[in-house]
Amino acid sequence: MSLDPWGNTFWSLNALYIHDGVSKRPHVALSDTVHASGYFNSFILAERPRLLSKPIDELLVKMRLGRPGSLQSFDAVIGSADGSIPVAFEVARQTDCRFGYTEKQGDGRVLRRFDVRRNRLVLVVEDVITTGQEAVKTIMAIEALGGQVYPMIGTLLSLLSGETLATPVGELPVVALSRTGFDTWSVAECPLCRLGSRAIARPRANWKDLTTSLK
Ligand SMILES: [Zn+2]
Repeated sequence: MSLDPWGNTFWSLNALYIHDGVSKRPHVALSDTVHASGYFNSFILAERPRLLSKPIDELLVKMRLGRPGSLQSFDAVIGSADGSIPVAFEVARQTDCRFGYTEKQGDGRVLRRFDVRRNRLVLVVEDVITTGQEAVKTIMAIEALGGQVYPMIGTLLSLLSGETLATPVGELPVVALSRTGFDTWSVAECPLCRLGSRAIARPRANWKDLTTSLK
């Protein structure tokens, strides 16, 4: 297991779990059909809001948005509920912008409680980007209301193999604090199940069970 510096920080805060190959340790059922060797639980940071301050500050520097004068370039910061809500809130707080989040509706996402201003730039941020499909749905919700998507996405952790995401508004760079990865498989192909490792569903709700088993 190799962790980059922020991956190491998330790990030491117990917000990142990565299976180490020991069969007695559990792994993650992301859904009925997808299993993973790891999980990022951003709520471990969000439950103590001060813990979010530094990573968001560094993310903004990495996105070159941390300097005064560059902050007026977008009007609002939007994340995808639930995990991205505290991240978007902290980015909006540090950049003195409006904040909001999209919620699931059918197969898509909508801005149910927030609005975007027509033709104003909206920055999309996430806690973790796995396939990027939630961010894509959030972008579609912003576009549907006439907002313009800022040409860059920020996230604490990215599992994408590349550094960009294909979206309806083009290929957008994804700026991530950490790219510490873990694997996902269909259940039928999950090597950890084959190894005899137990799969734990709803990892956030069962975080203690997942991260303290046999440690
Ligand atoms: Zn499995």
